[in-house]
Formats: sequence, structure tokens, C-alpha cells
Amino acid sequence: MWVRKRIDLSWVDLNYALMHCGLPANSHREEIQANWSSSGDSMVCLSVRSGLDLLLQSLKLPPGSEVLMSALTIEGMIRVVREHGLVPVPVDVDIDTLSPRLDSLERAITPRSRLLIVAHLFGGRVNLNPIRQLADAHNLMLVEDCAQAFDGAPNGQLPVADCSLYSFGPIKTSTALGGAMVHCQDRQLIGRMRELESQYPEQSRWSYLQRVLKYGALMGISNRWAFTIMTRSFQRAGKDYDHFLRKVVRGFREEGFLERLRKRPSKPLLSLLQRRIDRFDEPRMTKHSRRGAWLTEQLPDSIVCPGYASSRNNYWVFPIMVDDPGPLVDRLRQSGFDAMQYGSMVAVPAPAGRPELEPDTARHILAKTVFLPLYHQMPRASLLRMAHLLNSLLAE
Ligand SMILES: *Cc1c(COP(=O)(O)O)cnc(C)c1O
Repeated sequence: MWVRKRIDLSWVDLNYALMHCGLPANSHREEIQANWSSSGDSMVCLSVRSGLDLLLQSLKLPPGSEVLMSALTIEGMIRVVREHGLVPVPVDVDIDTLSPRLDSLERAITPRSRLLIVAHLFGGRVNLNPIRQLADAHNLMLVEDCAQAFDGAPNGQLPVADCSLYSFGPIKTSTALGGAMVHCQDRQLIGRMRELESQYPEQSRWSYLQRVLKYGALMGISNRWAFTIMTRSFQRAGKDYDHFLRKVVRGFREEGFLERLRKRPSKPLLSLLQRRIDRFDEPRMTKHSRRGAWLTEQLPDSIVCPGYASSRNNYWVFPIMVDDPGPLVDRLRQSGFDAMQYGSMVAVPAPAGRPELEPDTARHILAKTVFLPLYHQMPRASLLRMAHLLNSLLAE
């Protein structure tokens, strides 16, 4: 069975992290920041959610201010906004580009709107230029959530957004099993965020070591044959492996939510983060991206791939939309492809009293999407078999 998703980390990287958990390593913070951007306007922190929390602490928006958000995002981002007494307001997305729709955005803006968070979803990139214009016209700060779209450090390219957030969490591209990069155009703002972060306690080596071991174990069972044996054992025991995997990869637990975000990354995490960013393998990413485009072409025309029209796409995941996802997932799994419904994403609900803002398209995408396995360990022949299978299943 081809597992749904591989942790994007090699055994050598994992050993590197293990080794650094036991070394009196120096902090790589300054180097990482300088390499990311030479103009002193970036910072490293524990996670994208930590970065957003720092941003909101520094901005000190009046309570009740509205934060417009791409209507598809992860629960944790919505939670951070709420924890600050702010109101998350969904902006429905377009199926073809996964960009927030301009008409939905215009409808959602009120005099209380202060911030707009655009998520680049599933590995695709949203064209921010038209959104920037609208944001400027309404005096909104523009934040881009690049957690799913990392494709190398910006290398001097000036972002369109005021603030950009990149995640190196466990399921993300080039993961360091944690860590995030934040870039802000406003150097005073990033200065305030750094100052706040410098007061945080440091993530312990022990908790990072536990993480490394946990994801090492997951990597161990992600091999095609090991994973097949594991799923069979679960079936024999009458247990649901899907439920198990979801539980294992869940991020920060619910209790003490902000407290968990308000930590500085540990030194071994910084060591691995520096290695992952420095050694980012662009040719490998290009190859993966081409295979994603190739797989799209092998699929029947009746299948819509949300985000297929994005300006660029690195296929962090490979989503397809079908009428009846449940049975299709079962059939794919029976044939050795661990497809999955419902990733970690949710729809941002409309705020009280504004039902017209319910993000119907985002909900529709969530309800109809199946994620197919696609990563470089899968040979073309297997991808082709998966495509043929989909062709025949959907012709039934
Ligand atoms: C993973 C993810 C995040 C959170 O990243 P962390 O670094 O784990 O906080 C935020 N937004 C999106 C869209 C994500 O996929």
C-alpha cells in the first residue's frame, strides 16, 4: 500500500537532528534569518501559529476587529485569531485557483476589517496582485500563509504581502519537524515581534527529541511494504488505522493552546531548520511539480483538481474532487493506494449575524475532495495504475 503522505525528511536529516539533540550546539538563529533575507526583516519562530500570535500581539488591534481569512485554512489559525478577541471572517475561495474571490472579499469588508490572511493552498500559489490593490483601497494589512507552499527561501525576491509566514512543521515540505519563518516588510514591526519572542521560554531538547523519535517511527512505517503490513495488522485487530494516523500527526494539543505556541525553538530544531533551508533541493521540487502536472493529465476529464489553474504549483498534496468520495477512497485503498478524505483543513464559519458570508465553495471543496498519494518514491508505473483505476471507477 502506498501511504497517503511521506514525511519530507531523509534518514540522514533525522540522524542529524538526533545528533544535535545531544550536542551543545550554538544557536543558528542569526544565520537562518540572515540567509532568509539580508535586510533584517525576517525572524524564525516555533510555528506559523506562533508567528501569527506574535504578529497579533504586536499589532494590538482593538478587540472585535475583523480578520478576513481565506475560507479554507487549518483550525489553529482561526483559533489564534479568536484568542486575541478578534473576529475571523471567511472569504470564500475559487475552485480553480483556490484564491480568495474578489467579490466575496469586497462583500466581507467592513470598517472593522483590519487584516487579510491569504492562504496558498495545497501547494499552489495565489496571485496576490489584484488582492493587494483591494487591500490597499481598504487599508488592510495583507498577510500570506505560505505554510503549504514552501519552494525555497525567497532569495531577495520582494513579497507582495506585508507579512509572509512559512512553516517547517512535520507534514510540510522540507520539514524540520517544527519551526517557521516570518517575513515582514515593516522592520519596526518585526523588531517588536522579535522582542516579544525573546522573552519566551525555550522549547526543551527533550520535547524536541520526543518529536524526532515519533516522526522517525512514522517514517519507519511509511515504506510501502511496512505500511501494507501495518494496515493489515490494524484490520486483523479490528482497528481503524486512518483514525490512528490522524491522531499521531495532530499538532499542539488543545489545553494551554497559546502557552504551547509561546516558546522559542530549541537549538537542535534550529540546527535542522538551517540545514533544511540551506540544502533545499530545487531540482527535486521541480521534478515533483512536473509529475503532479503529468498526473493531472492522466486523469479523466470529469475530475476537477481544485487549484489546477494556480500560477505555480508544487503539489504539496494532490487533491481531486469527485461526487461520492467515501466509496472511491475505499476502492483506492483496496487497490493499494492510501487515498484520504479530509486533510487537516476546515472552513472558516461566518461570524454571528452575517449568514450571507457562509463559504459554500470552501465547504463544497472539503466535502468532495480526495487526496491521492503522490511523492517521489512512487514510480510512474504506480501513478499510471492509480490513474487507470480512477478512470475505470469513475466510468462505472
Ligand atoms: C500547517 C499549516 C499552518 C500551521 O503551521 P504551523 O507551523 O504548524 O503552525 C498554517 N496554515 C496552513 C494553511 C497550514 O497548512
